[in-house]
Amino acid sequence: MTNNKYKILVVEDEKNIRNLISNILQSSNYQVIEAATYCSAISLYASYHPDLILLDLGLPDQDGMCVIEKIREESLVPIIVLSARSDESDKVDALDAGANDYIMKPFGSAELLARVRSSLRNSRYNSDMSRVPNTCFMYRDLVIDYDARRVFIEKNEIKLTQNEYNIVAFLSQHSGKVMTYHSIIKKIWGYADNGSIKKLQVNMANIRKKFGEKIGENIYIVNELGIGYRMNGNEEYRVEE
Ligand code: CA
Repeated sequence: MTNNKYKILVVEDEKNIRNLISNILQSSNYQVIEAATYCSAISLYASYHPDLILLDLGLPDQDGMCVIEKIREESLVPIIVLSARSDESDKVDALDAGANDYIMKPFGSAELLARVRSSLRNSRYNSDMSRVPNTCFMYRDLVIDYDARRVFIEKNEIKLTQNEYNIVAFLSQHSGKVMTYHSIIKKIWGYADNGSIKKLQVNMANIRKKFGEKIGENIYIVNELGIGYRMNGNEEYRVEE
């Protein structure tokens, strides 16, 4: 086991934070590679091909966004952004550029490790998915049959409109990842205007009602306020023919 560790690239210019993150990860048996600049991040990425990247957006030589853009040219490796910026738009931009998740500084070690585990799990699942294209999505008692475009909870069919189904299917195909309002709207309606977010929110409210989710409940779909939505998923679900 000791030679078979997940490799995590930590890109953070502040030494104290970098050391803290490295210590947390190493004590959980991850191999850590450290970078303090954009240049070293790109070069270490190329040499080590890490399984996951933790990325600070404020780097001394280039914006951390450039790291996301550069890496997404060739790889879907999970990227978690470490954001000290309170501005929502930075998180949204990072997610739209292809980051999988974000963590707000300051964060606790339990949260950091949970996000890392979740991103690694989803990337394993997605790589399995790509080999088995026609499948069902299953999470707890929720089943989505992509071929039939039907959704069931506890074996009861949930009647969704076409748009509602498309939203649910899209979120489930990216389960575990926050999908921004922009990315969902673009996928479902193909355009964005000022009324689009409202339209999406109305659809989501109907979906949550049909799913039987009460306000504040996040069994299937998590409302990331001001950012977008995330569908839950975990290793319990199985790909079925
Ligand atoms: Ca920084």
